[in-house]
Amino acid sequence: ERKAALAASSGPGATSDGHKVPLLANVGGPADVPAAVEAGAEGVGLFRTEFLFLDDSAKAPSEEKQVEAYRKVLEAFPEGRVVVRVLDAGADKPLDFLTPADEPNPALGVRGLRSLLDHPEVLRTQLTALAKAVEGLPVYLEVMAPMVADRADAKAFADACRAAGLRAKFGAMVEIPSAALRARSILQEVEFLSLGTNDLAQYTFAADRQVGAVSRLQDPWQPALLDLVALSAEAAKAEGKSCGVCGEAASDPLLACVLTGLGVTSLSMGAASIPYVRATLAKYTLAQCERAAAAARAADSAEEARVAAQAVLSGE
Ligand code: PEP
Ligand code: MG
Repeated sequence: ERKAALAASSGPGATSDGHKVPLLANVGGPADVPAAVEAGAEGVGLFRTEFLFLDDSAKAPSEEKQVEAYRKVLEAFPEGRVVVRVLDAGADKPLDFLTPADEPNPALGVRGLRSLLDHPEVLRTQLTALAKAVEGLPVYLEVMAPMVADRADAKAFADACRAAGLRAKFGAMVEIPSAALRARSILQEVEFLSLGTNDLAQYTFAADRQVGAVSRLQDPWQPALLDLVALSAEAAKAEGKSCGVCGEAASDPLLACVLTGLGVTSLSMGAASIPYVRATLAKYTLAQCERAAAAARAADSAEEARVAAQAVLSGE
């Protein structure tokens, strides 16, 4: 029965009453594209460009090499949308030529956009390669920065995109609580937000995402995390802009309904999760998702939030 439901699941993501929630794929490079297409992804919501930099930790890949890799992913979604994240080096993804070796707390140090602003030539090459890769393609390109902390970060990124002559929408990832708290201010500089719930949980709970002993605090059902999601989504709505989720949270079908109820406008996840999320979302109305979201936020723990949302959706 479960198999039949999944097989019947195709087409764009939407609630049972037709509220559209595009379902996008997280990819790490061209090799992940076939699975995304197979799962019926409506595009890519997070293209982690780190993979290109892993072969040689001593220097950045050439512009030509980058153009080739970006183009392969962009070509796969001719009418779709592809959100490319610029290099997120540092912390759990260190690179010799970018990441300081002597930081006491690398997750709180020079990583993500911070390291790109310290090495503007690396960001420039990446943006120029993207501008060349998208030339002549009908795809709808969006480019976003990881680890944006405030409006100054968002402006520095948008300025760099403009300087590279990039034909794309520019966005900011919300992975640091300050960005969620001041989302409206960040949206004065960029056109969309994308919630990276993995890092947002890490920084909200001061719980390292690589340390198993604190994994309880990494649970994306934590009501405090849901509050930050709601703040970001409300800010985006007030500014008439979009706010997606591209962290692991989006791949949990029940949580995907709650995120939709909180006002999130798209969900991006590993391709394998897309059919499950699509099938679950299609069972409930937007109003039901909103009630589930309110119930989850009213809870005092991740476990209670999950139970409360489930109870609302199963009509108990
Ligand atoms: C996140 O932090 O939720 C995210 C999507 O980025 P990454 O997992 O690559 O840090
Ligand atoms: Mg992240």
